[in-house]
Amino acid sequence: MYALHRLRAQGFNVHVYEAGVDVGGTWYWNRYPGARFDSESWTYGYSFSEELLRDWDWSEHFSPQPETLRYCNFVADRLDLRRDITFGFRVAAARWDESAGQWEIEATDGRRARARLIVTAIGALSAPVMPKIPGVEDFRGEAYHTGLWPHQPVSFAGKRVGVLGTGATGVQAITEIAKTAGHLTVFQRSPNWCAPLRNGPIDEETQQRIHATYAEIFARCRDSYGCFIHDADPRNAMEVSAEEREALYEKTYALPGFAKWMGNFRDILVDRAANDTITDFMRRKIRARVKDPALAEKLIPKNHGFGTRRVPLESGYYEVFNQANVRLVDLRETPLERITPAGIRTSSGEHALDMIIYATGFDAITGAFDRIDIRGRGGEALKDKWAKGPRTYLGLQIAGFPNLFTLIGPHSAALFCNMTRCIEQNVEFVGGLLTHMRKRGQARVEAAPQAEDEWTSHVHETAARMLFTQVDSWMTGVHSEGKHTRGRTVMVYAGGAPKFRERCEEVVAAGYAGFELR
Ligand SMILES: Cc1cc2nc3c(=O)[nH]c(=O)nc-3n(C[C@H](O)[C@H](O)[C@H](O)COP(=O)(O)OP(=O)(O)OC[C@H]3O[C@@H](n4cnc5c(N)ncnc54)[C@H](O)[C@@H]3O)c2cc1C
Repeated sequence: MYALHRLRAQGFNVHVYEAGVDVGGTWYWNRYPGARFDSESWTYGYSFSEELLRDWDWSEHFSPQPETLRYCNFVADRLDLRRDITFGFRVAAARWDESAGQWEIEATDGRRARARLIVTAIGALSAPVMPKIPGVEDFRGEAYHTGLWPHQPVSFAGKRVGVLGTGATGVQAITEIAKTAGHLTVFQRSPNWCAPLRNGPIDEETQQRIHATYAEIFARCRDSYGCFIHDADPRNAMEVSAEEREALYEKTYALPGFAKWMGNFRDILVDRAANDTITDFMRRKIRARVKDPALAEKLIPKNHGFGTRRVPLESGYYEVFNQANVRLVDLRETPLERITPAGIRTSSGEHALDMIIYATGFDAITGAFDRIDIRGRGGEALKDKWAKGPRTYLGLQIAGFPNLFTLIGPHSAALFCNMTRCIEQNVEFVGGLLTHMRKRGQARVEAAPQAEDEWTSHVHETAARMLFTQVDSWMTGVHSEGKHTRGRTVMVYAGGAPKFRERCEEVVAAGYAGFELR
């Protein structure tokens, strides 16, 4: 939406093709119960327009999905965006036509369109994945994927509900569904380190303070690693006494949002010994919150340290397992065998269910690209080029794919980011580059192969010291459904948003170095 607004305002002829039937992206598709921000709402909204900031009040510190979708609609209305969007147009293919110097796109229904330049904004978490389990089609009850949730209300009252998946989405959904389900069975393969969200309504006084200090809020976000309001404590964990360490862990645990992930000692995500200390703290928190000690152990991750995967934020997740109507099935103990017409069968027998919810997440970061047959110069397929892992220049362009920009693509800092903050930076960079080209009468831009090599190596080097690269997750390109057989790769730029922005500024100052313009 910002790309459309910005590029249009800069005088470009822009048209958006969108698979959904309305605006909202993530917030349009993910209508599952419990869906809400883990970014502070007032740090996530667009910052580029005084008018949008002035006329919108967030009602909660971590907005629920319906409110965020309303916000997206408010923005689309105010900026009159819909007149330049074709909805219900799912792009299936995009081909570079060298002789015409144009891209041709084709929708799943055969409609076509041409443009000199394509800017993708197809999302990092927008390609929902179903588990590869036999029998999915056989189930006779209700079945939903959280990322394709129906628009009509779904009732859980009195029903036997099964949830597959305990990632960020599963954790939110389980906590909410447990409130009304007759019986809830949680099928867990690998537990995550979850930490309290600590949401609450925004009172009138706080609302006024937020409005009065937006400039400072965005300045703080701008300077922090992930553009969140939380930035790391400047000390290393092992530099301080055990008591001081515990005190900071307690303090951040009590704070809202990602304070425990982004606002702790600066080395907890890079130093194994430091990470062990926070991991031990989180382990004790889980044990304190789950009454049955054996159950608590099942909920404690054993294969990765705290924060080396995206941290699901929760509002009473662990307490759900103290409820009489909730049962945890540990799929490592009793592996899943198949979906049956009446429920889910594991090695210990059949769990009869009225509803199955697949909280199995997304083919992250490259999934939405892989679902489009993108062909660059000489018919090269992007999927082939990225078969061993993405190669990009600044996460924004790819050698061999002229006039194609990939907003928040792989290797962009945006993927660790409070996304709207990084999206604004990406859009402004692309807008600046296109204006630069227009002034010079240039029509073609392509990442130089050497610039791509250099950036890709830099991304890998920067990630090497981070503990997350030693763990299977969507940040290392491993989807739990085993779709990617290439093994771990680096999907995200781990140098942080300020470094990324600095690098982009240097590129601009050097006349868009690394981009071949003609
Ligand atoms: C449940 C959930 C919670 C999240 N919470 C946060 C949060 O708290 N903070 C945060 O910073 N980020 C969060 N995110 C990440 C979130 O995706 C981004 O904040 C933001 O929505 C990214 O915007 P986007 O426009 O780049 O992508 P999206 O919002 O994913 O939009 C991509 C759009 O592209 C469309 N599209 C995809 N493929 C095609 C195609 N082939 N043809 C046509 N259209 C296509 C999709 O329909 C969609 O509308 C969350 C993600 C999820 C799934």
